[in-house]
Amino acid sequence: MLLIECPYCGPRNEVEFHYGGEAHVPYPEDPSALSDREWSEYLFYRANPKGILAERWQHSAGCRKWFNALRDTRTYRFEQVYEMGTPRPDLPPVPEIPADAAEPDRFAAAAATEGRTETPLADSTGASGTSSAGTSTTDPSSRTEQNGDHHG
Ligand SMILES: [Zn+2]
Repeated sequence: MLLIECPYCGPRNEVEFHYGGEAHVPYPEDPSALSDREWSEYLFYRANPKGILAERWQHSAGCRKWFNALRDTRTYRFEQVYEMGTPRPDLPPVPEIPADAAEPDRFAAAAATEGRTETPLADSTGASGTSSAGTSTTDPSSRTEQNGDHHG
């Protein structure tokens, strides 16, 4: 179980909380002036970073108040919580996590496959072709170094 710190109540079990999506997504000033694409970008397009993400959370089984949190999507760790309406705090730069220690990498892999569904599978036919093609890929220029010594 994950402990989430409500800024009003202190640390509580994650089951008391309700996730509210990315924080600091501004409501359009004039929604009727937006194209359908711009409106859908407001509704559905989110940053989805590998790293720190500002999120909205509600302590729904406690004080029922909404607050914001900075969470690292690679580790699930809550780096900081802060009240609604306050600007996103600056965090010191987070060091890169080695690939073998980054367990949530499966989300990155899932995101990559999602993006790939729109593009045709160009490689699938070539990969199932002849396997002997790999031996002919040696660079001929590297061989000339062995017998190309004409300086005498
Ligand atoms: Zn609370």
